[in-house]
Amino acid sequence: MKFVKESSVKGVCITTATLNLSKLNSDENLELHTLDHALVLLEGRMTAPELLTAAHGLAHLAANLINHLSKVCGPCEDCDKDSCPFNDLEEEVVQVNEYLREAAGIPDGAKLCAEVDEEAHTVTIMAAEHRYDLRDLPPDLLATFAEAGTCLGKLEEHMIAEDIVYGG
Ligand SMILES: [Zn+2]
Repeated sequence: MKFVKESSVKGVCITTATLNLSKLNSDENLELHTLDHALVLLEGRMTAPELLTAAHGLAHLAANLINHLSKVCGPCEDCDKDSCPFNDLEEEVVQVNEYLREAAGIPDGAKLCAEVDEEAHTVTIMAAEHRYDLRDLPPDLLATFAEAGTCLGKLEEHMIAEDIVYGG
């Protein structure tokens, strides 16, 4: 079940009733796992069936989150080339050697993009203004979205914009 917790300066309080609902025994030690953007409270001691039930629940939650994002992006069906910029990730990779990157003052790990001047026959490589794009998705996760028919162009737009895709 999902509960919305109001956080305050004192932090977040989890009531005994909520612990009981999760079959967490408050007499025993609980393990708090801090993830980025999530916290997981695990029972400190579990039997094999209990551990598997917990693992299954976590996998289910992860799948729901991915599914939510897939729905937000919508299916890729009526996309034309303008609204769906995603074509081939490999073709979009821009690379420059370390010496040139350092000389240009571009930090290591910054995303690069290229601008072409067809008349002057020049290519300008610069640091991209965005922090995230599809290249930040692990390949298996990207494949999951692709197999689900998710619009990868929309997904990339949300990665770049870093707008809110979950909650209001
Ligand atoms: Zn699309």
